[in-house]
Formats: sequence, C-alpha cells, structure tokens
Amino acid sequence: MEAGIVGLPNVGKSTLFNALTASKAAQSENYPFCTIEPNEGIVSVPDVRLTRITQYITPQKTIPAVLKLVDIAGIVKGASEGEGLGNKFLSHIRQVDAIVQVVRCFDDPDVIHVSGTVDPIADMDTIETELMLADIQTLENALSKAERTARSGDKEAKLRVAVIQKCNEHLSKDEPLRTLELNNVEASAISSYGLMSAKPVLYVANVSETDLEGNDPLVQKVREQAAKVGATVVCVCAKLEAELAELEEPDRSEMLSEVGLEEPALNQIARATYSTLGLESYFTAGEKEVRAWTIPKGATAPQAAGVIHSDFERGFIRCEVYTLEDLETYKTEKEIRQAGKLRVEGKSYVMKDGDICHFLFNV
Ligand code: GDP
Repeated sequence: MEAGIVGLPNVGKSTLFNALTASKAAQSENYPFCTIEPNEGIVSVPDVRLTRITQYITPQKTIPAVLKLVDIAGIVKGASEGEGLGNKFLSHIRQVDAIVQVVRCFDDPDVIHVSGTVDPIADMDTIETELMLADIQTLENALSKAERTARSGDKEAKLRVAVIQKCNEHLSKDEPLRTLELNNVEASAISSYGLMSAKPVLYVANVSETDLEGNDPLVQKVREQAAKVGATVVCVCAKLEAELAELEEPDRSEMLSEVGLEEPALNQIARATYSTLGLESYFTAGEKEVRAWTIPKGATAPQAAGVIHSDFERGFIRCEVYTLEDLETYKTEKEIRQAGKLRVEGKSYVMKDGDICHFLFNV
C-alpha cells in the first residue's frame, strides 16, 4: 500500500515530502525488504498507543508502523493530453493506492504561483479534472474491448460494459469516480483499470506560518470542497515543518511550544494518510519489542498473522487478544489472563484497530 503526493508546481510538495521522510526511524536502510526508488520515501506513523503500552511493558525497542510515500512531480493543466510530464505523471498515480494532494494556501510574493494567484479551489479542480479526463480515456479504450468480448456472449464482459457505462455517466456529470457507489462485484469488474478519480484522496492545505489552524477563508473553502468527496483536510505549514524536522530534542519541543503546536503536523499527515489508505494497526508487545503492524481494515486474524510471516497465516491456530484498556487496568499480561480478560479468537475473528495479540501457529 502506498500513497502518492501530488500538487501543482510550487505548492510545497518537495518541502513536505523531504520533511516527512527525513526522520531517522524512516531511513530506507531500516527497511531492506522494500525497494525504494529515488522519488519514494518511508514515513513512520506516530502512534500514542505505543507509548501507552510501553508504560507497562518495557521493551528493548519500539517499532512504529510505516507507510510508503511516492513524490509524483509534474502535474500541470493538460497533463491528460501529455502536457508537462503528462502521461508519465499519470502512470505514476495509477500505481498508488491513495492520493495526497498538497494545495497552496500560503501567500508569499517570493514564491510564484503557476496560474498567478493563490486559489486552492482552482488547484483542486485542475488536478481532479486531469484525473477525470484520463479516466474517460481509459474507459473509452476499455469499453470498446469489453463490447467486442461481450458480443461473443461473455458474461463478465457484459458486466464490465454495464459498469463502464455507469462510470461514464457519472464522469459526464463532472463527478469523480470516488463518489460513485459500486458494489463489490462491480468494483472488481473494473479494478484492473487503475481509475484515478476513484482513488481515495487526502488534502494537505499548506498554510501560512501565521495561520497554523487554518482559519483563513481560503482554507475553509478547501474543507467544504473536500467534504463533497468525503475527503479529510490536514493543515500544515510545510516551511515550518521542514525546520522542525531538522531539529533535535529538546529544541524541537521548544519550537513546537513557541508556535503553539502539540506535535508536528507531519504526524497528523502520516496518520491521516494511513487511514485514507484504509489501514489500521494491531500490536505485539513483549520484552524484546513492542511493535505496530499494519493491516487493511477488516482483516481477519490469520491475515493479520500473515503480515508478520506468511507461515503464521498458513499455520494459524488461534490468537490471544487483549486491549490497551485491559493493560491499563490490570498492568501486566499475567493479571489480564488471571482476570479472564485474555480473549481467545479463531480463524474468523476480524481484527479491531489497536488489538494487542499473540498468535499460536503450527509450522
Ligand atoms: P513543489 O514545486 O510543490 O515541490 O514546491 P517546493 O516544495 O519546491 O516549494 C516551492 C517554494 O515554496 C520553495 O521556495 C519553498 O521554500 C516555498 N515554500 C514551501 N512551503 C512553504 C510555506 O509553507 N510557506 C512559504 N512561505 N513558502 C513555502
């Protein structure tokens, strides 16, 4: 699962990408199992629940969840017709699972805006339009193929034709595909097309240093626009975050309190991206390590075990689960067990965000 960071030129994408991927925990050499291209970075997902667990279980190390972020440069108006890096840019978006769009809300006469004025709503429309135009082209090609196959009586192709027409109709109303409701069968009929306006989106409003909470009317408009497609907005001052990311403690905490922030806004972006990707965490907690593991929402216990090792999924027997609240009440796992609060769950158990567990398995 990975998210792509997009935006018009000069909105602060690179500043933000560099700040997000700068932390030591996120250095790519710590993740030898991922291939990291030059425009990709690993972002750790700060989670206060890890700190709460380590107040009761003191591990040798604590490992947060991470996500992969791709810096997708180069969108300009006309990208779907090959302007700028055009198609190359779009093919990068096709490969990501969610879009993080940076919109410029800060005013700075020294930083040129591509279309002359700071207008985040126009920027949001520009990108959405390019994604929708590209989808229309994709669907056009797919439709003629599907129609040909459907003529020979192929049932799946007939379904594809129907779903493509439904998508086309939606797009012709100037609506992105993310607001079109499809059932699972319909969604899987077109899943291989990588339709871009269907991808979940998170908006990052790059605000001025003097408006960190985003009270500016421009930011309010961004929130209203985002709400129409069910998207979240996080406010950040990329320039300030870049400075924060370079500081060591205690200087960082000092600067945070000077500007009135509880934590870097980057933390919020990481968490919101994680959630936009449809991800959640469960924890394993022992003396060796306390660790957050990433699963898609709705994963079953064997699938969750498979994230640690594929053998764990194959040989899954059962898992023992408790909650952070149990740990805070009973203080140790032994006490939780004695109080009868250690639940035993089987193969069909659907994991809940924040479960703390042990897996039992055959090898
Ligand atoms: P990109 O083209 O979207 O990747 O934008 P950059 O990250 O390269 O930023 C473009 C210019 O805007 C640079 O000169 C940055 O220093 C500046 N910039 C980025 N974020 C901010 C911000 O939050 N406030 C101000 N005033 N300038 C910023």
